[in-house]
This record gives sequence, C-alpha cells and structure tokens, in this order.
Amino acid sequence: MAKSPVVDQDCCIGCEVCVQLCPEVFRMEGDEGSGHDHDHKSIVYNPSGASVERIEVAMDSCPAACIYWD
Ligand code: SF4
Repeated sequence: MAKSPVVDQDCCIGCEVCVQLCPEVFRMEGDEGSGHDHDHKSIVYNPSGASVERIEVAMDSCPAACIYWD
C-alpha cells in the first residue's frame, strides 16, 4: 500500500468516531486506568487493516480533521 493513515496526536480529541468506523485500523490509547478520560487518543495500529475507502470515511467523519495520509 502506497499510503498510510496517520492520526495527529496533538489534534485528536478522543471522540472515538474513527475507532467505531474502522476498528481494524484505529484504536484508543491511554484510556486504561489513567483516570483522565481526555487523555484518550486514537492511534493507527494497523494501517492496512481496512480499504482506503473505509479509512477515508473515517477521515471525513473525524470532527477535528486530524487523520491524514502519510
Ligand atoms: S475521529 Fe478524529 S478526533 Fe475522534 S478519535 Fe479519531 S482521530 Fe481522534
């Protein structure tokens, strides 16, 4: 695959929309036992886990527009 999705960690607001739309690619980090819900960030753990089209749906659905192609 020529391009990989990336989540801008400074911009992610932890809404989990991308994880719900594309759990094969994105997952939440930093939410286990931290006691700070706002520490949730999405990360790309499997860049090729879903089709480009489905990843682009997640990108377009991100309210903070912080998922981009590398
Ligand atoms: S949709 Fe955007 S803001 Fe929401 S968790 Fe995913 S990357 Fe973060």
